[in-house]
Amino acid sequence: MKSPITYLDYAAATPIDDSVLDAMQPYFSNAFYNPSATYLRASEVRKDLEAARAKVAYWLGARPSEIIFTAGATEANNIAIHGIMRQYPIGNIVISGIEHESVLVPARRYECREAKVGPDGRLDLGDLERLIDDNTVLVSVMYANNEIGTIEPIREAYKVISEKRKDRKSSSVPLFFHTDATQGANYMDLHVARLGVDLMSLNGGKIYGPKQTGALYVKGGITLQPLIDGGGQERGIRSGTENVAGDIGFAKALDLVQSSRHDEINRLSELQKKFLDLVEKSIPNVEINGSLKHRLPNNVHLTLPGFDNERLLMELDEAGVIAAAGSACSASNIEPSHVLKAIGKSDAEARASLRFTFGRFTTENDIDKAVFELDKLK
Ligand code: PMP
Repeated sequence: MKSPITYLDYAAATPIDDSVLDAMQPYFSNAFYNPSATYLRASEVRKDLEAARAKVAYWLGARPSEIIFTAGATEANNIAIHGIMRQYPIGNIVISGIEHESVLVPARRYECREAKVGPDGRLDLGDLERLIDDNTVLVSVMYANNEIGTIEPIREAYKVISEKRKDRKSSSVPLFFHTDATQGANYMDLHVARLGVDLMSLNGGKIYGPKQTGALYVKGGITLQPLIDGGGQERGIRSGTENVAGDIGFAKALDLVQSSRHDEINRLSELQKKFLDLVEKSIPNVEINGSLKHRLPNNVHLTLPGFDNERLLMELDEAGVIAAAGSACSASNIEPSHVLKAIGKSDAEARASLRFTFGRFTTENDIDKAVFELDKLK
């Protein structure tokens, strides 16, 4: 998809890849059969669905039986959190203070502790260590933040968790580690053993696949209490006739982004550097939010003190540049972003913040245009 507009909101949605769409097409028409049916044509659909599961498992270094297809990351996060926490009524959950709402809201239904992040948006490992006690059942830390693009120290958090596990040998409460890898999947290594995670959420709609698709990795041996009961599909964890076309599209999309991620990181890092250089030159008091070192290559997040992001976004939109507010809030929502608050921004600063996220079709011209239009508005 080549767009005449400068679209810089890839963290919100990505256009579907043509080859992903092609891979999905047959399952809407000729191969529409229910994969659970027993006749030959249905069993061929089942085979294709299982091949898709194996493809996802490959990139995670997991077994196919450890992959549960879901309707997006919100569902995967809810299945992980409720699925664990409902089994341990006295247990608590520890999350980072900058999680997406689809982790934050379910986690807060239990005894929830929120670990601080530093001014650079990275998890404070000391605070994580302090918050985990003998009744902590689940730790959930996102792989990369959807607003400020920081890459979180998952391997280091795993080290903290494994020390806690050692201390707790006699206790009957297990300690699981979940990561929401929604924003990391385009650029990051997803190998679960290297990361040390027991559960991982993925999202098709941010990786050039279909929306409402994704997966939850569940390490073998972990039991989850299902949220949706029914025919027992997806190992009983997520009942309902499988979204065959969607699941196959998601697997294809994951395969494409993971196999090209190194080239894409190099290309986007150049664009990111160019954007930052230009914006620092043209807008004197601009602040760049989030770690520059541990950062997704497609994210630029700015505070323009004294400006109103809603107005800036509208005017950029009129000029053909699509970006996003620094917060998930809409004009009608007066709450500023919890992520920006967590890194120490004031309400006024949060309302003066903008997110630009690049992707596969972003060119140098798009960067020039975005900074040029922003410069005109300042
Ligand atoms: N987690 C993160 C980090 C996200 O960025 C998003 C989407 N903004 C989600 C979860 C939820 O994804 P979905 O709404 O597609 O389920």
